[in-house]
Amino acid sequence: MLRSGKFAEKKILLIDKAPKLKNDRTWCFWETQPGFFEDIVYRKWDTISFLSDHFSATTNISPYQYKMIKGIDFYSYCFDEIKKHGNVEVVYGDVRAWKYEKEAINFKIDDKDIKLIDRGTKIFNSVYKPAEPDKRTIRLLQHFKGWIIETGKPTFQSSAATMMDFRVHQRHGTAFAYVLPFNETTALVEYTLFTKELLLKEQYDAELREYISQFLAISDYRVIEEEFGVIPMTNERFLFGRNGWQIGTAGGQTKASTGYTFQFIQKQSQQITGCLILGKNLNYLQGTAKRFRFYDNTLLHILYHNKIPGKTIFTQLFKKNKPQQVLKFLDNESSLAEELKIISTLPTIPFLKAAINQL
Ligand SMILES: Cc1cc2nc3c(=O)[nH]c(=O)nc-3n(C[C@H](O)[C@H](O)[C@H](O)COP(=O)(O)OP(=O)(O)OC[C@H]3O[C@@H](n4cnc5c(N)ncnc54)[C@H](O)[C@@H]3O)c2cc1C
Repeated sequence: MLRSGKFAEKKILLIDKAPKLKNDRTWCFWETQPGFFEDIVYRKWDTISFLSDHFSATTNISPYQYKMIKGIDFYSYCFDEIKKHGNVEVVYGDVRAWKYEKEAINFKIDDKDIKLIDRGTKIFNSVYKPAEPDKRTIRLLQHFKGWIIETGKPTFQSSAATMMDFRVHQRHGTAFAYVLPFNETTALVEYTLFTKELLLKEQYDAELREYISQFLAISDYRVIEEEFGVIPMTNERFLFGRNGWQIGTAGGQTKASTGYTFQFIQKQSQQITGCLILGKNLNYLQGTAKRFRFYDNTLLHILYHNKIPGKTIFTQLFKKNKPQQVLKFLDNESSLAEELKIISTLPTIPFLKAAINQL
């Protein structure tokens, strides 16, 4: 919104719990062109590896590049921009509630009640509160722990990122590791699961240690940073317009079957800004095409009920399809014909049964 220059006359209030001072997450995504945040892309790779027991491939993914942004670079970049715009006010506090009332919006921030006169004020909310589940609601967690490790001697091939390594054991459920090499001696190594429950803290560390020693064959290394995260994977229906406008994960921008969110947020933000600039009603904003939600919910159903191991599904996907096709599909950018081709490479009967369940 700020970059467009079209909102200089508007007053913008940004409320968050606390200043963004920590490198609390790493974002990975793929795109074919330099994107909106190209200036802060920390590393990018033209080649990705997919590894599993009976199939492994390292492939150039042109025209895509797999990109990584550090959380702290993103926060600094955005707040440097925000500081240049006098019409933006930043307030820190815990937003406990808000409600549109007659000609005003009442906020509870920390213990204070704050009233904003409603002159067509729009609220964009990114506080995710899971909806009340019903009997069809599925909730899986994507949870992960990552270490940035430094080795004493050249170890990593920095030209390729390992997107998924399914050689790790599957005793906890669907689990894989990934490796993002920054240079020959430094890499982010992440251990990820799609399961119903979190592990104990020490179990993530044990799995990371095991992966680094068994599969990367590294014994001498130092952990210089770590991250932990949980991303909801759910078939919950997200309503965009409900007591304000819901954005980000709170607005259903997390892909239910993979947890990828970053690019979907950028797309949603662009659509919202476009609508506001044209003075269009946000109610007409096009959400995710229904068929992608259907695919996601089908896959989620299979993972949740353990109908086919996640490892088998992702291995089939990458074995039988070009990675570019898989990336396009996972980005919700494929055509129906491309989707049918991809779906035909997956085990038919369990997918059909799970799909019928979604109708
Ligand atoms: C560690 C981690 C790594 C991830 N990596 C990737 C990745 O590689 N690729 C990808 O596509 N996605 C990734 N994700 C998923 C997703 O992209 C991120 O979660 C992303 O930050 C979601 O953006 P958001 O704006 O929806 O939520 P957030 O970034 O979580 O922003 C919500 C904001 O609301 C504030 N807030 C919450 N409650 C209140 C309250 N009561 N009062 C005031 N403020 C409040 C929070 O402080 C926060 O600033 C990752 C997530 C995590 C946690």
